[in-house]
Amino acid sequence: MPLTEEQKIRYGRQLLSKYVDENKQEILLNSKVLQIGAGGLGSPCSMYLIAAGIGELTIVDNDTVDLSNLQRQILYGMSSINNVKVEEAKKRLTDMNPSANIITKKIYVDEKNIDELVKNKDYIIDCSDNAKTKFMVNDAAIRNNIKCTIAGIKDFFGQILSIDPGKSACYRCIFYDVPGETSSDTGPLPVIGVSPGVLGPLEATEVIKSLLGIGEPLYNQLLMVNLLDMSFTKIPVQRYENCLCSLSK
Ligand SMILES: [Zn+2]
Repeated sequence: MPLTEEQKIRYGRQLLSKYVDENKQEILLNSKVLQIGAGGLGSPCSMYLIAAGIGELTIVDNDTVDLSNLQRQILYGMSSINNVKVEEAKKRLTDMNPSANIITKKIYVDEKNIDELVKNKDYIIDCSDNAKTKFMVNDAAIRNNIKCTIAGIKDFFGQILSIDPGKSACYRCIFYDVPGETSSDTGPLPVIGVSPGVLGPLEATEVIKSLLGIGEPLYNQLLMVNLLDMSFTKIPVQRYENCLCSLSK
């Protein structure tokens, strides 16, 4: 379907890019993306995806908004306090782009429901705040052969990796398994709000590039971000032959 006049205006500035034409915009409009988490990473990630015209975004999060979230979770304001995050997110994102189909799931993602959640999705983004979920997202992406991006943040630092199942190194190839101590054991991690503010949009960028087949996604490269000294370092990584992502092929 050709773009409507309204769409040509709304997406006009990105349609000026030599990397995005009307056909590519239609790919975004027809894409179904699953985002795990609607917190610090998930806020800007979802906002940029919906602003760019991703047609369907499913957001999974089981939390309500707390005053302590507002320092970094920019989807929310004072009027959101105590309300369900995914519902507040849907309100904000729908206001931004009413034609987007935003599907909300107020649940904890777990081993039992993740395969159903990823079904028929074109891309999965991990915006969770814990290692256990990141491994679970990685494994589901591998099992179901869906590309994904996983990011993490702490303090002024972040890391991000994209995965092309069966082709590039997965999260488990690099980190092997959930560390013995998880954030739930050690309490909340320190976070400067700008860290998810940088890493979340980097995740959205990876989604857009991958869906459009342009640029070089972070396959086999772990990008380490240090906002204290402003270094962005790509560390080459490779598939581990005994990893689940190799054995399952
Ligand atoms: Zn692997």
